[in-house]
Amino acid sequence: MEKAFQKNLISIEPYTAGEQPKSADIIKLNANENPYPPSPEVQKALAEFDTGILKLYPPMDAAPLRQAVADYYGLDRSCVFAGNGSDDVLAAAFRAFFNSGRPILYPDITYSFYPVWCELLKIPYETIPVDGEFRVHVEDYFKDNGGVVLPNPNAPTTIGLEAEPIEELLRHNRDSIVIIDEAYADFSEVSCVPLIRKYDNLVITQTFSKSRSLAGLRVAAAMADPYLISYLDAVKDSYNSYPMDAVAISAGAAAMRDREYFEQVRRRIIATREKTAARLRELGFILPDSSANFLFATHPRHTAEEIYSYLRERGIYIRYFRKPRIDNHLRITVGTEEQMDKLIEALEELLSK
Ligand code: PMP
Repeated sequence: MEKAFQKNLISIEPYTAGEQPKSADIIKLNANENPYPPSPEVQKALAEFDTGILKLYPPMDAAPLRQAVADYYGLDRSCVFAGNGSDDVLAAAFRAFFNSGRPILYPDITYSFYPVWCELLKIPYETIPVDGEFRVHVEDYFKDNGGVVLPNPNAPTTIGLEAEPIEELLRHNRDSIVIIDEAYADFSEVSCVPLIRKYDNLVITQTFSKSRSLAGLRVAAAMADPYLISYLDAVKDSYNSYPMDAVAISAGAAAMRDREYFEQVRRRIIATREKTAARLRELGFILPDSSANFLFATHPRHTAEEIYSYLRERGIYIRYFRKPRIDNHLRITVGTEEQMDKLIEALEELLSK
């Protein structure tokens, strides 16, 4: 029997993250994590961490982390916000900036958390179809809206836009806030962070989960005009004054400061990505050029679901979305060279049958 309170419960379909395998033997290429460990500076920061400070609340504004991000980009600290992963930062941004009652715009094929936040926060939205090759055309966003959110590069399509079209998008959307989700931008050569000086309606979000190998620590940042940052702080201070703990602040700042290691890892992943993309094409896969740390591939002779299941049985987890337009595509995270060799071997086996 239905209980009276049941009608008052939230009705929401939550975001589904990539499966977390029980066994350590699995080759996990399903959550766009980094296959390499974080910077040795992170290890050092943790080893030297003074646990005595844990008796106090952490700095409310995560100042050491915001400062490290500001220094990296040559910005004033007032232009930086920090949070508990970019899911936390994006949720704060949706709350802070999308209150017009008019639909916000984002691509039909994109990060599937956006509709979840819209449902949760009662934000109306309109999805703008990407073209037949999954490309975003910024002209489609030159219309009345309550805000725009666009990942660059886009996920799961891997396709990135140059800074020029993003600037066009900003020029045509002076009256609303534009969020560019740069979760994967470190694997491309394009970042729109410098544009925050020119456009006071631009918000960039970035994460430490991918290029800085800190998915397990939950660290991310947003960069924008200080006026907009003050609204992100107001939202943060209205639900949790201390979303970032002292350990994450310290280790995150250490990761940000180690530019050399960061460059080394991102170059390595880009090189493995290019090599893997070429090998997949040799096997008949069709895939766009990737600007991210993953590939988005389809095969003319085997369904995505069949390939996904075949690999899964062999202990290789990739991502398959049972969703319109992309249900014959696979999203494959770029792992180590050895992991990619195993992936290719398994695919060769399947395709030779
Ligand atoms: N944006 C995009 C486009 C993503 O793919 C992800 C990863 N799932 C995120 C944001 C969130 O990443 P995190 O919360 O780990 O920073």
